[in-house]
Amino acid sequence: MELIAREMAPHKRVALVAHDNMKAPLLSWVLRRKEELKLHHLYATGTTGTLLGKQAQLPITCLFSGPMGGDQQLGALIAEGKIDVMIFFWDPLNAAAHDPDVKALLRLAAVWNIPVATNEATADFIMDSPHMQRAFSVQVPDYAGYLKARTE
Ligand code: PGA
Repeated sequence: MELIAREMAPHKRVALVAHDNMKAPLLSWVLRRKEELKLHHLYATGTTGTLLGKQAQLPITCLFSGPMGGDQQLGALIAEGKIDVMIFFWDPLNAAAHDPDVKALLRLAAVWNIPVATNEATADFIMDSPHMQRAFSVQVPDYAGYLKARTE
């Protein structure tokens, strides 16, 4: 697959997701990083986003709840280049009914080369990165070239 550059703007589109056992830790993290998160556009799966919106008083675009399709909606936004960073506090100790959706979401995040945090330490590393505050160029699949090569 050929790659092309994609420019991330200084204000990032940040997706927030937490499995049920991880919602309290994500809320604590969001409250701790609230002032920095305010500088970005926030998206979240349904339950996570509704909870964070109420408890942290942050504007968040809420998708469907994860098990009801929200993880797949988020994956589609990533493929469309509409999400720059994903903070996903997934539960490493319990299986979920929608594990296939979770796997698909993480796979698309890898395909489209977005920074992903799956725990608090990595979330802090990402938030402390200077790239969060300025434009940043990432290499992503050249989809137009891919399509052209497969249809000529
Ligand atoms: P939720 O979905 O925010 O609706 O709980 C998250 C998930 O479990 O994928």
